[in-house]
Amino acid sequence: MAKIIHEREKCVGCGFCASICPEHWEMSDDGKSTLKGSKKVNDHYEKEVEDVGCNEEAAKHCPVNAIHIE
Ligand code: SF4
Repeated sequence: MAKIIHEREKCVGCGFCASICPEHWEMSDDGKSTLKGSKKVNDHYEKEVEDVGCNEEAAKHCPVNAIHIE
């Protein structure tokens, strides 16, 4: 298991995560991305996944380093 973390406040809405990893990410009406199925924990959103999959690429290329994998 791995945990995907989204520091949504940092997101600048570039759309990269949603385009490279649509299974887990989508763009929302406020212009930021949303980690599908995540829950808010303190100042970020997170969810557990069996397989990191394309989240790895999303985390690596997010221009503001708002996506983390633990
Ligand atoms: S790649 Fe980063 S900045 Fe771009 S939409 Fe996704 S979380 Fe936001």
